[in-house]
Amino acid sequence: MTFFEHVTFDLDDTLLDTSGGLIPTAARRALDHLVRKLHPEASSLERESLIETLLRKRSDLLRNEPRVNPWFALANGDAELAEACRQIFLRPPLEELPPESIRPTPGAMELLAWAASRAHVHLVTSGDPVVQNRKIDALDIRKYFRTVQVVEALPSPPDGKGPKYHAFLKIRSGYPETIGPRFLSIGNRVDTDLGEAKLLDWRTVWVRFGEHASLAPKKPSEIPDFEVSTPQDLLAIWRDQFQTIAHDSKTGSTTPR
Ligand SMILES: [Mg+2]
Repeated sequence: MTFFEHVTFDLDDTLLDTSGGLIPTAARRALDHLVRKLHPEASSLERESLIETLLRKRSDLLRNEPRVNPWFALANGDAELAEACRQIFLRPPLEELPPESIRPTPGAMELLAWAASRAHVHLVTSGDPVVQNRKIDALDIRKYFRTVQVVEALPSPPDGKGPKYHAFLKIRSGYPETIGPRFLSIGNRVDTDLGEAKLLDWRTVWVRFGEHASLAPKKPSEIPDFEVSTPQDLLAIWRDQFQTIAHDSKTGSTTPR
């Protein structure tokens, strides 16, 4: 069995574990803005308690209604305020965060190194370009990628042709001779990372990790070809599947092919 020719990774909650301070800090800042707008009269103590309540509400929303925009619900339907909160959320102050808050998901570094030694590896991530590029450098993973694209963080449109689809298409177009199934997309979101890649006939791996783990496939294109809990699990499977050991019956030695 031959390995893929092109492996495209997502960043947040695929290679980068955002639960280590990044998401909590970002969500808290966005909710602080929200509470100040909705309850300008609140004391700092009351504000703190409102933020705690809203943090729990946000987690509940992500778990129970993973396809709704949580900011819209938290802002009581005020679209402008919701968007302001989302923008704050997308730009956490990385320089104020302790270095350990930028940490890889289990096995991410090993998986990346393994994949990069066998395929062309690409990164397609959504969010603020400055923030996403800082995360890439903080993890020191830029060296692995043939291409890096930072696209706008938008929900997947009904036809699935969102920003990630266009980024995948750009990678695809660079290698017109390669057939679709030789491309692979690995990500934690079934709608954007998987569904939008499937439109190009790519293979997909769902790393069911982080706060979008409840976002389950709802159309055929979102159904992963493979599902794992962490990059570590995927690497263990790939090592078995693709590193065939040739056994030499004369010398008794084994050589990895
Ligand atoms: Mg992600």
